[in-house]
Amino acid sequence: MLEEKINEALGDADPTGFGTGWWSGVLSAFFGVLAFGAVVCLHFPQVLSSPELRPYYSMSIIRMLIQTVIVLAIILGVVSAMLRRKKALALTGMLFALGATLLGGSSVPINEPLREGPAIGLDWFLLDMLLMTLIFSPIEVLWPAYPKQSVFRSEWLTDIWYFLSTHLPIQVTSFLILLPATQLSGIMNIPGVTAAIGRLPWLVQFFLAVMVADLAEYWIHRAFHVVPWMWRFHAIHHSSKALDWIAGSRSHLVDDIVVRGFILIPMMLIFPHEINVAYLLFVTFHATWTHCNFGPNVKWLEPYLIQPRYHHWHHTSQKEAIDKNFAIHFPWIDKIFGTYYFPDGDKWPDTYGLHNEPIPRGFWAQFFYPFSRKKSA
Ligand SMILES: [Zn+2]
Ligand SMILES: [Zn+2]
Repeated sequence: MLEEKINEALGDADPTGFGTGWWSGVLSAFFGVLAFGAVVCLHFPQVLSSPELRPYYSMSIIRMLIQTVIVLAIILGVVSAMLRRKKALALTGMLFALGATLLGGSSVPINEPLREGPAIGLDWFLLDMLLMTLIFSPIEVLWPAYPKQSVFRSEWLTDIWYFLSTHLPIQVTSFLILLPATQLSGIMNIPGVTAAIGRLPWLVQFFLAVMVADLAEYWIHRAFHVVPWMWRFHAIHHSSKALDWIAGSRSHLVDDIVVRGFILIPMMLIFPHEINVAYLLFVTFHATWTHCNFGPNVKWLEPYLIQPRYHHWHHTSQKEAIDKNFAIHFPWIDKIFGTYYFPDGDKWPDTYGLHNEPIPRGFWAQFFYPFSRKKSA
């Protein structure tokens, strides 16, 4: 498997704490790869940048960002090479940074006029990867719930493929997710309701939107657990044996599309467009956050807004919490419908993943798994 090959080529048995050259090496390789990908995007913006995102770009900031990651990859590479016996990480970072520089670096001009049309969202993948890593990785490293769990725990690469798979076809996924919602809201539009809601204070509208979304999410999520053929899709999300922010990306495309569509249909009937966009931003961050390997508990907030420990119990393979905690924002929704499980104190699950259900490893095997015939026991 590719993951084992990468671990073997870049890893070693030396300690990985601060000051050992491991972190500088990992960051150098990470920034190097990002920089290289970004410069490739500058060369082929027609095919590798998303028309959806281009209007929001400030190219001067993007160019500065590319320059910064190139410089960081080189500096951190040098630091790691000095501190660590095995130089593979440092060399990887510096080689990619060198490659990015040789290809023209951050100053590659955009030659042709950009047009709408089919494109691969490599720019979106790189930007979001950088953003999410900067936000979530430091808190997981500094305050983990499971300190022994490495950033490169088993199947980390599989989850990067999942992240890639929802970002590269940004046009296809956003189209598929929005299609049922736009179709239906065209037929069953309730303009009076939307206008009345639109007159409420923004925060009230937003709160109502999260509530409607979570109620819809609760029932479709519960259906994914209860209906056998639906479970085979959702089991993929539950196959992670260890949770962290990137594990939250592991979700079958069908699961993603059905859940998002199901949530967006009632929302588009009721709420103004800006509120729905605000909700989509919120759910992206909050859902990622609840999968984090983040230990501290914000006790006063726990009853109102779901924190990592709550959703972690949804992912446990321990019997007492199976088919519990379906809500993704408000824990009291589970209380109302009798599926609430949240042990007092600071108790975290001991085991994660599926109980007695073997799921194949790897992105493509998991993609085809729900379509394969169930083997009789
Ligand atoms: Zn679930
Ligand atoms: Zn989850």
